[in-house]
Amino acid sequence: MERVQGKVALITGGARGLGEATGRLFAQEGATVVLTDVLDGDGATVAEEIRAAGGKATYLHQDTTDEAAWTEVVDGIVAEHGRLDIVVNNAGIVVDATVEDTTLEDFRRVNAINNEAVFLGTREAIRVMKDQDPKGGSIVNISSIAGLVGIENLAAYNASKGAVRLFTKSAALHVAKAGYKIRVNSVHPSYTWTPMVQFLGDNTGDRQAFFEALSAVHPLGRPGEPMDIAWGVLYLASDEASWVTGSELVIDGGITAG
Ligand code: NAD
Repeated sequence: MERVQGKVALITGGARGLGEATGRLFAQEGATVVLTDVLDGDGATVAEEIRAAGGKATYLHQDTTDEAAWTEVVDGIVAEHGRLDIVVNNAGIVVDATVEDTTLEDFRRVNAINNEAVFLGTREAIRVMKDQDPKGGSIVNISSIAGLVGIENLAAYNASKGAVRLFTKSAALHVAKAGYKIRVNSVHPSYTWTPMVQFLGDNTGDRQAFFEALSAVHPLGRPGEPMDIAWGVLYLASDEASWVTGSELVIDGGITAG
């Protein structure tokens, strides 16, 4: 119950799905959790429920594509809590379209949220983590199996998640060589049953049939659940992973193994 005891964690996209599960788990494991999102009602409710269960959590509005907002949020956390130990760059969107069907507008929107905002979050985290006392921290960037393999109906998403994989390694090398005591890793989930994937299911016209199809294609016989991913994020965020950086944690029910 104390794997991130006393640490201060910022989790973007914390109002639902993987970010919500990660926030609840971090709070159970002793962290002070700051959830941010654009879904203010849902985010505030998650934070309230964490507090009601005895955890430490607050919710802040943050559009992760807004550079100035990043500085405000990070500086605000340091002003209130004294430090920032963990940043989980989790907020993301999906557009269900092949390369032929993707508009430039959609390509840019997906990449602004899934890729550029991860850059902003990583850079802002480093800015404060490198100089705090004691210095250091853990940055966890949520990529996807779509950062490892192609998926024909996720062209813009593939591009954004592939970028996160190698950007993470570049940042990890830089902060290691600079001696900042910061680690940067990426996580690569396969289809996990969150609102994002339920939306993809609805696009097929039959959500339950989509769930069953996902169960059939994953060697472990089911799609992921948010907690399957949250446990991996917790490991990378915690001191248990103190010699882990620039790595890619694949949590995918075995789908990319074959
Ligand atoms: P979700 O849609 O359920 O939740 C994503 C959250 O991000 C939402 O609360 C949304 O409001 C928030 N968000 C979107 N744009 C934002 C912005 N500009 N600023 C702030 N918040 C914003 O999705 P999820 O399944 O929980 O996905 C979380 C992350 O995991 C995403 O990066 C996603 O690409 C990644 N991922 C998900 C799966 C999956 O199968 N669910 C698989 C691989 C990777």
